[in-house]
Amino acid sequence: MDKYQLLKKYFGYDKFRKGQDTLIDGILAGRDVFAIMPTGAGKSLCYQIPALMMDGITLVISPLISLMKDQVANLNQAGIHAAYLNSSLTPAQYRKALAFAAQGRYPIIYVAPERLLTNDFLHFAVHAEISMVAIDEAHCVSQWGQDFRPDYLKITAFLTHLPVRPVISAFTATATAAVREDVTDILHLKNPLVVTTGFDRTNLYFGVETPKNRYEAIQNYVTAHPEDSGIIYCLTRKQVEEVCAGLAVRGLPVTRYHAGLSDQERRQNQDDFIYDRKPLIVATNAFGMGIDKSNVRYVLHCGMPKNLESYYQEAGRAGRDGQPAECILYYSGQDAITNRFFITHNSDNEELDAETRALIQAREEERLKKMTLYCFTRDCLRAYILTYFGEQANETCANCSNCLNSFEIEDVTSVARAIIGCAAETGQRYGMGVLLDAVHGARTAKIRQYRMDENTWYGSARQTSLPHLRQVANHLLLQGILTTTNNEYQIVHLGPSARDILFGDEKVFLKTAPEKPEETAEKTSRKKRSSGSFTLSPEEEILFEKLRLCRKNLAQQEGVPPYIVFSDKTLVQMCLQTPKNQTEMMEISGVGEYKFKKYGEAFLACLAQSHI
Ligand code: ADP
Repeated sequence: MDKYQLLKKYFGYDKFRKGQDTLIDGILAGRDVFAIMPTGAGKSLCYQIPALMMDGITLVISPLISLMKDQVANLNQAGIHAAYLNSSLTPAQYRKALAFAAQGRYPIIYVAPERLLTNDFLHFAVHAEISMVAIDEAHCVSQWGQDFRPDYLKITAFLTHLPVRPVISAFTATATAAVREDVTDILHLKNPLVVTTGFDRTNLYFGVETPKNRYEAIQNYVTAHPEDSGIIYCLTRKQVEEVCAGLAVRGLPVTRYHAGLSDQERRQNQDDFIYDRKPLIVATNAFGMGIDKSNVRYVLHCGMPKNLESYYQEAGRAGRDGQPAECILYYSGQDAITNRFFITHNSDNEELDAETRALIQAREEERLKKMTLYCFTRDCLRAYILTYFGEQANETCANCSNCLNSFEIEDVTSVARAIIGCAAETGQRYGMGVLLDAVHGARTAKIRQYRMDENTWYGSARQTSLPHLRQVANHLLLQGILTTTNNEYQIVHLGPSARDILFGDEKVFLKTAPEKPEETAEKTSRKKRSSGSFTLSPEEEILFEKLRLCRKNLAQQEGVPPYIVFSDKTLVQMCLQTPKNQTEMMEISGVGEYKFKKYGEAFLACLAQSHI
């Protein structure tokens, strides 16, 4: 069978997505490959299809048990034999799986990195025919990545034990230039075919909001989206508890996840979420890696994460099925302080020497700064993210809160001059807080101690409110007119164009948003409908719910999450095309041969009962 036939037979899809066929062809030609593709782009198929076409076994190295379980369940549902080898198996189960693997029962085997150098696994691997080693979440190998896993360094040693070097394929959704280099070097990729399909997730809406009461804003949002599954990320366990309790009081089907819960409770809560028993989860960043749930319709952040890598990864858990989904960050000024605390009290790198630790900390400060500016920029949020990851972006996207907001343009040159002037006159020695207090004319002990009240610019922006001053200051930082040092003091320095503003004719303009009334549940819901999650008529929506129920029942019988039976996208297509027989059903994207045999009739019956 060729790659197209396999795609249809096992996965039910007619076409490859961008990058997939190039990678598959590369692997089949015996080349190493390195794929940098965003979440939901379909990286798994890129190694699964060649694995079915090559002789021998493909080993997939994956960092998390939940991720492996999900992938193996997905493959088994599609009629492909696959297994995982990790610590969730009892010793007896592990031995049995390894024995089956040695007999060649599985073309695809998922393995945890910490298993690679164990005696029994090595014994199996050197005696088996390993045609490819696929490395999922390959950025975990890099110390510069935000998910460094020391066990990933075992991959290189493992490969040297194999009698024949297999094809190596590496996959990641997040990789800045430094991380990319690391992945290539550490894994010794040989002249790899590098495919970057772009980070843009056009189906995701990005928003930043600064409501007076975040909890209320979140409750309103969730209440307005009663049918949807969503993740709400919080910065601390305490916040998780509070947000979760607030939603539970309203009778919403919500659960929670953080490192303070027992293993068993975490597993239970995660399963409740994945199986849609509780389609809402409030969690810290401990939750999510390897969560493959494709029908998450929104990811809300109650607080700003510590860098854009984490934000994009967490937000990216929305809309994996390619359907429209929303990612909203609810920001408050306290978030930067909380994150700075995490950075300075990070115990993960204790084994590193002081110099490396300081370097990592400075990088984290820099990342935090860029993340904070994301919350302040008035330009396109998508463009901001894409530029951060080193990609060209259009100036506007028409699908983020900034592009959809109408701003007024204000000339803030005189305020900008005051801030720049104050920093220049004091010899660029102070942080932004002190400078803003000075130009605002504060009479605090600190201002007197630093003799800021003697500065020419002292009180020169007295008429401007402090929040507005802060906006102007953030704008100056965003534009690079001012910069700050990467240490806890964040000393303000003048950028290259600052003097043109201070002494020349250069002007500074700021986009300001008109005062917005607080969101209510009703308003949020209206906004949602107009931005349109699915374009289904009311009758089709009813049918969609029926199909969802049918899917839930089948998933329960099978003991798998509903989205593994069929994705929301596949159900939506069933609503739109209303197939009446096997041939029509098999034309729906996501319905492969094996899945039709298992589930086709049940869905056809459901559709027949509800002809619209
Ligand atoms: P990634 O690992 O890149 O985050 P996945 O491999 O989990 O993404 O794929 C995301 C979703 O896209 C899955 O539901 C998958 O079945 C689907 N998908 C992958 N390739 C295709 C394709 N060629 N056509 C349609 N859907 C696809």
